[in-house]
Amino acid sequence: MFNVSNKLYDNLNNQNLLIENINGLDIAIDSSWKRIGINLSGGADSALLTFLICSIIKKHNLNIDVNIITYQRCWTTRPWQGWWSLQVFNKLKTMFPNIIKERYTNYIPPELEYGVSGPIINGRSGDQIIVGSFNKFAAWQYKLDAVYNATSKNPSDDTREDRMSNRDKDAENGTLSDIWSYNKELNVALVHPFRFVQKDWIVAQYHMHDILDLYNTTRSCEGDIKINKKIIEAVPQLSDYKEGMEVPVCEECWWCHERKWAESQVKTMIEKIKNG
Ligand SMILES: [Zn+2]
Repeated sequence: MFNVSNKLYDNLNNQNLLIENINGLDIAIDSSWKRIGINLSGGADSALLTFLICSIIKKHNLNIDVNIITYQRCWTTRPWQGWWSLQVFNKLKTMFPNIIKERYTNYIPPELEYGVSGPIINGRSGDQIIVGSFNKFAAWQYKLDAVYNATSKNPSDDTREDRMSNRDKDAENGTLSDIWSYNKELNVALVHPFRFVQKDWIVAQYHMHDILDLYNTTRSCEGDIKINKKIIEAVPQLSDYKEGMEVPVCEECWWCHERKWAESQVKTMIEKIKNG
C-alpha cells in the first residue's frame, strides 16, 4: 500500500536512521535525537502520529523527549477548539508520562485564517505563514532536532470543492522532501510521515492498536457558530460557550465528511492491511 512512499526514504543519507514499519507504513526517526516537536491539533491525524512516535521511542528505549506544539486558532468561531486540543494532550500525556514533556502553544488571529483573508503574501495565507514560521522558531528556541507534522492525503475519490488541493498529491509524484526535509541553518528535520496516507488507514490504526478511547477524545469537525445549523443550535453565540460543554459535530464540513468516509472504510482497510 505504501511501497512507493516508503521507498523515498532510500534517498535519505542518515546513519542513525531508524525505520519502523507500522502496518505497512514506514515511519522514520533518528535514534541520536534528544528533543523533537510534534504539531498536535486535537484532530485524529496528529493524535495518532503522536501516539505512534511515542510508541516507537518506548519500544526502542530511545532517549528522545517529545514536545507538543499547538496552534490556538478560530477562538471566535470555534471557542471549544483550545479546550479540545488540551484534552487530547492530557490523554497522550497520561499514556506516555515519561516521554511527553512540554506543550507550547501559539496563537493565530482569526483574521489571518485562509478562509477569512485568503492568500495574502506570495500565495500563502496568514495562518500558513504563522504555522511554518513558528515551527522553525520553536525548533530554534527550544532546541528541537526535528518537528513532525501529521498532514495527511485527501481521499483519492474526493471531488469536494472545499478540499485543500495541496493534500491531493500522490506518492508517485512525490520526492523525499515531501516527507523529510532538512533545514541546514536551523539544524532541524521537518518530517511529514502521513503526507501520502489517507484517513481510512489512520482511523484503522485506532482499532488495530486498541486506542479507540484516544480516537473518541479527538475532534476533526471545523463547523462553527456562524455557519453550521447543528452548532448554532447548541452554541448560538460566543458568550454561550462554557468550557467543556458538549458541542455536536456539524456533519457538513469537509473534515466531518472525511472522518465519516474513513469510518465507513475501516473494515475493508483492516482486511487489506492483514492481507498485506
Ligand atoms: Zn463538521
